Amino acid sequence: MPERVPAPAVPADGVWDAVVVGAGPAGSAAALELARAGRSVLLIERGPFPGAKNVYGGVVYGRILDELIPRWWDEVPVQRWVTRRSTMVMTPTQAFTVDFRTQAWGQPPYNGMTTYRADFDAWLAGHAVEAGAVLVTSTVVTGLLRDERGRVTGVRTDRDDGDIRARVVIACDGVNSFLAKEAGLLPQTDAHHLTLGVKETLALPREVIEERFAITGTEGLDIEILGCTRGIPGGGFLYTNLDTVSVGVVVALTGLAKAKVRPEELIADLKAHPAIAPYLRGAELKEYAAHLIPEGGYRTMPRLAIDGMLVAGDAAAMCLAAGIWLEGVNFAIGSGMYAGRAAAEALRRRDTSASGLAGYRRLLEDSFVLADHKRLQRAPDLVLSERVQKQYPGMVCDLVQEVFTVTNPVPKRGMSRLLRDTARRHGVRLRDLARDGLAGLRVFG
Ligand SMILES: Cc1cc2nc3c(=O)[nH]c(=O)nc-3n(C[C@H](O)[C@H](O)[C@H](O)COP(=O)(O)OP(=O)(O)OC[C@H]3O[C@@H](n4cnc5c(N)ncnc54)[C@H](O)[C@@H]3O)c2cc1C
Repeated sequence: MPERVPAPAVPADGVWDAVVVGAGPAGSAAALELARAGRSVLLIERGPFPGAKNVYGGVVYGRILDELIPRWWDEVPVQRWVTRRSTMVMTPTQAFTVDFRTQAWGQPPYNGMTTYRADFDAWLAGHAVEAGAVLVTSTVVTGLLRDERGRVTGVRTDRDDGDIRARVVIACDGVNSFLAKEAGLLPQTDAHHLTLGVKETLALPREVIEERFAITGTEGLDIEILGCTRGIPGGGFLYTNLDTVSVGVVVALTGLAKAKVRPEELIADLKAHPAIAPYLRGAELKEYAAHLIPEGGYRTMPRLAIDGMLVAGDAAAMCLAAGIWLEGVNFAIGSGMYAGRAAAEALRRRDTSASGLAGYRRLLEDSFVLADHKRLQRAPDLVLSERVQKQYPGMVCDLVQEVFTVTNPVPKRGMSRLLRDTARRHGVRLRDLARDGLAGLRVFG
């Protein structure tokens, strides 16, 4: 059991301006914003240090940090700057890859980076502390305090000195937030809106990574993969760190249960795939981790404010898992920052009721956080649909194989004939293909 940090000095009147629960990216961004506004803020984390318990695939898109920490790239604990992004569609014996690389992402202001959560979360929380927030670790928030009218007035913790009173509580306690549930903001868990992400971190010498993935210096590669989950709705990923790679899959919880497959088996399949295995030859397993992801998107977001409380990040289902995107940390930072900003403004006006905190929703509406979620709200339906998951990977790979197979002395067939024949072989009607194409345009267009 790690040693507990001594209880922090309580403000003179015994009430903190704000208590933020969870020192993940959402919580630290909220605490940073409040501290900078001159508010007393307590940031409570159950792990022994921020990031200790946090699991993700590996890429942070840092643009939102521009608003919080100017020139953050000079100091962020980066592994590699993503300069190469690939999307791979596979069947057990084939792989078709669209590969993009640009030198632009390898220099300021950068685009995405691989980074370890233990480093990144601790770094962001460090900024909140530097700005004046008080961080308490190894402390679990066990419930909400409320007054006789039901207004949230603080939190209960598992510490001896127990209850902590605050004018506003910001729940940033991650997916399946039990604080949001206790407040009546989140309905009981619906497994249909959750995916399970599992990943292995594998060690390889730095120069081997650079040679195999055709990257140099601190350049990095991010591969997103479709068709690697035995038809269970989901996908896979492979990211490069300095001297490790992260390989994993994200699959629908209900689909996994129905298929009676263990997630480790899916990762084993992926690692053994002929397109992936050569990258990983000789790699040594360093870590295995699993975590839930809120994948329901915009339509499953809870109410965001009640009297005395706001909810941000994964706790508010603000994670975008829509095929070619797997982004949660940037949405967590954005929503946490806006929650902190709205709370600071409500405190300034001495009104932390639900209507006093309504500025939070307005800030989110005006930003990428809700705009992206609204625009892409139907993406999970399309990306996780039966045809995209089970029929299209095989169809695409076979089509490409046909195109590149030289059939002399038989003359080449035209593309539309090839498409028709391949679609028919895979049980795909051209009508459905056209419909999905249009749906794709509507969802992503
Ligand atoms: C396998 C996987 C791959 C992913 N890949 C990516 C990726 O590559 N890029 C990306 O941007 N996103 C990715 N995500 C999503 C991303 O991890 C989340 O969206 C992001 O971490 C959400 O941040 P958060 O601060 O809201 O919650 P979290 O990061 O979950 O932080 C919540 C914090 O609250 C603490 N906490 C919880 N309950 C309590 C309590 N009762 N008391 C005190 N503390 C508490 C936790 O210990 C934790 O520190 C991935 C997720 C998974 C599972």
